[in-house]
Amino acid sequence: METRHTSPEIRLADIKKSGRLRLHFSGIVQGVGFRPFLYRTAEKFGLKGFVKNTGAGVTLEVEGGRLPEFIRYITRHAPPLSRIETLRLEELPARNSKEFKILESDARGQKHVMVSPDIALCAACRKEMDDPGDRRYQYPFTNCTDCGPRFTIIEGLPYDRPKTTMKKFAMCPECHREYMNPGDRRYHAQPVSCPDCGPRLQLRAKGRIAKANAPGEAIKLLKKGMAVAIKGIGGFHLACQAGNRAALERLRRFKGRENKPFALMATMAMIQRHCRITAAEKELLQSPQAPIVLLKAKANDKLLRLSAPGQNRLGFMLPYSPLHRLLIEKMGEPLVMTSANIADEPILFDDAARELPRLCDAILSHDRPILSFADDSVTQVVENKPYFIRRSRGFVPLPIAMPFSSPMTVLGLGGMLKTTFCLLDKERAFVGPHIGDTESNTALAAEKRAVLHFMKLFSLSPAIVAVDKHPSYPNRLLAEAFPKAKVVEVQHHRAHVASLLAESGETGKVLGIALDGTGYGDDGTIWGGEFFLGDLKNGLERAGHLLPMFLPGGDAAAREPWRTAISLLLALGTEKAAGRFAGKFGRKGDQVLEAANRRRGGVMTTSCGRLFDGVAALLGLGDANSYEGELPSLLQAEAEKARPQKQPYPYAIENKGGMPVLNMLLALEAMLADKKSRAEKACRFHQTLAHGLLDMASHCAGASGVRKAALSGGVFQNTLLLKMSRELLLKNRFQVLHHTQVPANDGGISLGQAVLAAMKCRKEL
Ligand code: ZN
Ligand code: ZN
Ligand code: FE
Repeated sequence: METRHTSPEIRLADIKKSGRLRLHFSGIVQGVGFRPFLYRTAEKFGLKGFVKNTGAGVTLEVEGGRLPEFIRYITRHAPPLSRIETLRLEELPARNSKEFKILESDARGQKHVMVSPDIALCAACRKEMDDPGDRRYQYPFTNCTDCGPRFTIIEGLPYDRPKTTMKKFAMCPECHREYMNPGDRRYHAQPVSCPDCGPRLQLRAKGRIAKANAPGEAIKLLKKGMAVAIKGIGGFHLACQAGNRAALERLRRFKGRENKPFALMATMAMIQRHCRITAAEKELLQSPQAPIVLLKAKANDKLLRLSAPGQNRLGFMLPYSPLHRLLIEKMGEPLVMTSANIADEPILFDDAARELPRLCDAILSHDRPILSFADDSVTQVVENKPYFIRRSRGFVPLPIAMPFSSPMTVLGLGGMLKTTFCLLDKERAFVGPHIGDTESNTALAAEKRAVLHFMKLFSLSPAIVAVDKHPSYPNRLLAEAFPKAKVVEVQHHRAHVASLLAESGETGKVLGIALDGTGYGDDGTIWGGEFFLGDLKNGLERAGHLLPMFLPGGDAAAREPWRTAISLLLALGTEKAAGRFAGKFGRKGDQVLEAANRRRGGVMTTSCGRLFDGVAALLGLGDANSYEGELPSLLQAEAEKARPQKQPYPYAIENKGGMPVLNMLLALEAMLADKKSRAEKACRFHQTLAHGLLDMASHCAGASGVRKAALSGGVFQNTLLLKMSRELLLKNRFQVLHHTQVPANDGGISLGQAVLAAMKCRKEL
């Protein structure tokens, strides 16, 4: 992925040759080899002076040479992981410095500094690890100024060793020499260490602790089909052989996870044996962020059947830490590498976590503490750009640039599932790591702790706290930690659309389409298939929606889509078919049929996610969701088996209360009567919905002249629907926005909440 460099505008011609210059850099300029780069460049240009880290970034003073050329050079050749946000120049009288020095850090004025995310092992370090003559041969904690842990080990700023969890390891003379030598590629690499002075591995199994050859012992257990917890960069993984059915079943029992796909770790050569990958996917896998990338698996692939039953994609990542690399190379086969957590709670990252031993046969750990947790990021490639399912390790805590400046700091707390938080300040939005479901106290405590850490790191304190409109989402309670802040409620689906507008820099009027699971609506009913007209500044007005349907049992229907299927059959007027379908579920089936008939004991919803649930159940893809979105993802995989169908099914756009409403019942009726294969029916359903969206877009836009559609909400994790909708909209002269920086799912709504709350309060100022 590209790293952006902002080349600042400087009137280089005006710089006096005889004077001295002071340069202030802000942005990602600490922990990315920026000072050594300046040092080497100053030497190259024969300049004298100094450079130092400050709380606000990096300050450089230089004199005695070709200053304009020097500045041009540094803005063009800055280290790959750095990002210069601003460069301020001051002219000073010459001081006749005799040398160029790197000075101690200055902790004052911590305002504009950024913290680098964790970066995958670089090529130079890989080479050292492979060299039997190198002192870091096979060393599992190898890193340098270009790579290694950052965000997860940083306690405070400025970024220096005493403010990282490496502070407890005293450097040996040789490491110290590297650390102090500006010509060395480990100059001021804060996590630098070697086998003599760095962290130690250990393997804990059944009360026994092995310190010698811990990785070898772990590999022995893995080869026997055991489940081993492995301490990584942002937390523990649970690992097992990806191709061993018994090992996988064992891991699923430990995790209490029936069908949910597992992420895998493997070398590029191994990945290519199982998946067909494009150049863009390869690049994303090999990027310094090294996320999990969902890749199309080859037909009938064994790993697919084992780790992602019913799906057509495998989630692979490369070994991004030196320990991972060591393990994968010695295993010679792919490993399951799934976050160690209970259900959808936050990832475990502390060796003292009591739950950890209960999740595995053995624990491979070390004594470098993780301060901040960060799950692996999960991505796909859409239009040659990353499309996030989860934005966490490798990306957090980099801020996302906003198209406006918020005069006050706003904290968005996120929703209840796939929770993240967001601190918005001026033109930057710091979106935090993936926290997961915030239904438990553990998860709430994790969110609170992470928020407080971000506030400290970036010297921010929220004046406004934005929460979901849902009156009983548990993380509303966290607002109480900020008694002086004003609490603002933001409607869930507006937050989805706003997150997309904010990350796209879109300030104009749009038609926002939020297709989602569920969210609390303005009228107290459950929404999830929403169309909005408006913009960030003036807000988003509801302009249309999906036809409401009845969900027997409310939330129970989200876990058991067969309930939704019965309700849909009734809505079609096919009572006999509904009765036959309900018959499969015995007494419970009768009760649900009865409830759906009377529309009692349930809720009405416009949710598109629930519609996908129901359709998948009607097509026989399953009765229940063992994890969120299981049946909808199976429906997508089924549809992708078929070639695009010629005609969409019929559907209707009705007018209800002056608003266009998309009625998909006709499509379901036609689908059930269709004699084609299940895959073709699934595909045709997707196509019909895409046509319906286009039609709705035209109706909702009406006379407003808006020709820009913004596609957000969890249903748009479905890249087939996204692709079909995009193509149709583009063909019909709509511009289309889709996510590229935050997820379309609830991982993105903290950003949208913060942005809409900021806009609302700005208007009130
Ligand atoms: Zn490196
Ligand atoms: Zn050392
Ligand atoms: Fe949502």
